[in-house]
Amino acid sequence: MSVADYEVDYSDVIGKKVECPPQCGMCCLCQPEVLPEERPFFRNNHPDCLVKSKGPEPYFALALKKGHGSCVFLENRRCKVYENRTSYCRQFPYHLYASDRVKVELDLSCRGVWYGTGADALTEAKGLVARADRRILAALEESKAVYKEFYSICREAGVMSDPSRLRMTVSENLSMFTDLSYLSRIMDMSQIEPVMSLSGLQPDSRPDMESLEEAGRDLAMDSMSSNDPLSVPVYCDSQWNWNMFMAADDRIQWSVMNDDGDLDVKGSANASDIRLKVPDEAGRKVLADYVMTLNGRDSFMGSVFSLMDANAYEDDMANAYYGCMSVTVMDLLWRMSMLDHFMGTGCGADGVREAIIFYDMDRLDAPTIGAFI
Ligand code: SF4
Ligand code: SF4
Repeated sequence: MSVADYEVDYSDVIGKKVECPPQCGMCCLCQPEVLPEERPFFRNNHPDCLVKSKGPEPYFALALKKGHGSCVFLENRRCKVYENRTSYCRQFPYHLYASDRVKVELDLSCRGVWYGTGADALTEAKGLVARADRRILAALEESKAVYKEFYSICREAGVMSDPSRLRMTVSENLSMFTDLSYLSRIMDMSQIEPVMSLSGLQPDSRPDMESLEEAGRDLAMDSMSSNDPLSVPVYCDSQWNWNMFMAADDRIQWSVMNDDGDLDVKGSANASDIRLKVPDEAGRKVLADYVMTLNGRDSFMGSVFSLMDANAYEDDMANAYYGCMSVTVMDLLWRMSMLDHFMGTGCGADGVREAIIFYDMDRLDAPTIGAFI
């Protein structure tokens, strides 16, 4: 089998460009794995910079400054081993996701994908796929078997829907997923109706703002609940500051990490004091584009499937899909409100875009039944 023998969906990257500004370095805060063939360079030249990761399946990775800052090779936001950086470093902001096919996804937390300038994303993605061929084949073999089993369990449990039809109905009803009065109704219906449909769905005339706020806040707080900077989402702002928000109980602390891995506390707030805000018309358009992106991602679908599995196949796939999409939007809107609270980013197109930049990398942590390669 070769690259031509498996399906790769490049639709996310067609027509996109990626520019990597020299002041950023945000992706160097993610500890990169070092593949077996890459180890000799680091072992021979920088033995102290190679560490074994913790966790159930340990792997070799590059050391971080102070154990939680940026990669030790980042100096003045430039890579000191650029020619020998790892495959994982070369890959960002592209993600290769294996389900029953391969999908190239673009990480919207990278500011470099928002300018519309730079290298042609499709050409870059094709090069990455060709170089990752061996790893893709191994991951695909496993993920195809998992997907086959998943669909078979869904059919037996009577909860199967056609994933492409679900995607089509979301794209046909996109405005529902940017409107709180519909989101409130979708969240309710996904838990009540045996098999949910978007057709004929009526908006909630008086959406329960407290429940919507709580849904978004709970998810966002869950992701920020740690005092380890390595575990919380990073938001690289337009001034290239690495902002971190760490939550404990109801309290959120906002800090900026410097290049040495030190944290400078900028402020704090009670999460319950942050009111959910609604994006304006321009913000809704940016939000609608993001819903379309999520709707096309196999990794998003994989995270919905993982949730169905965790819930013992009690929910119909349609309910799980629409429900997950609506709570994801609430998570994003609550983060938009939080960024506005701390930094005044607003609720227009800019505010929603900044929330996406803050949020999108978190999607990588969502449990999924496929695999990022
Ligand atoms: S996050 Fe994007 S723009 Fe920033 S250094 Fe990484 S690839 Fe470049
Ligand atoms: S090796 Fe270079 S590109 Fe990779 S994380 Fe370290 S500094 Fe960044």
